[in-house]
Amino acid sequence: EIVNFNQFFNRIIDRFELSKSQNVTFHRMLSDTPYYVDIDTDKLTQVIDNIISNALKYSPDGGNIRFGIAVKDNVLKVMISDDGMGIPSENVDRIFDRFYRVDRARARSMGGTGLGLAIAREMIEAHGGSIWAESEEGQGTTIFFTLEIEMDEEGEWD
Ligand code: ATP
Ligand code: MG
Repeated sequence: EIVNFNQFFNRIIDRFELSKSQNVTFHRMLSDTPYYVDIDTDKLTQVIDNIISNALKYSPDGGNIRFGIAVKDNVLKVMISDDGMGIPSENVDRIFDRFYRVDRARARSMGGTGLGLAIAREMIEAHGGSIWAESEEGQGTTIFFTLEIEMDEEGEWD
């Protein structure tokens, strides 16, 4: 299904912003230019839900979550960042492994199974994109993923 990604992303962010119980502020750095992508909207919703749930789970009281997009050539890069506890650098790539959780004490208190990001990686790769994380322990975490932008017949961006 071809959708306006900005609108699709904003609706998901809205849903979290209306229902969140924590004192965490959302900041949207999204452009007004519509970017169209051809996605399975149910699957992409599941991916973004997991990333935002994680950001909320690991955010401190008074924290901030930033939502951004960047475009280069015909690739849309989506960024979701928090200023939470972060992930030790030696473990950053492992968070996409099945059942991997950074530490057991943290995992026990937070609930969940450790499958969310493994599923997210599978789904993003099935769409031809990639997903990765950058994190600094004690400073925060940013999750990035890419999707190809749909072009019209003239090879122009929609
Ligand atoms: P599930 O998503 O299945 O409910 P989960 O959230 O623990 O469980 P993932 O979403 O796959 O599993 O995340 C894996 C692990 O990566 C988490 O347990 C956590 O240790 C770490 N992690 C993920 N996102 C963040 C984040 N924003 N800040 C800090 N740690 C994170
Ligand atoms: Mg999760």
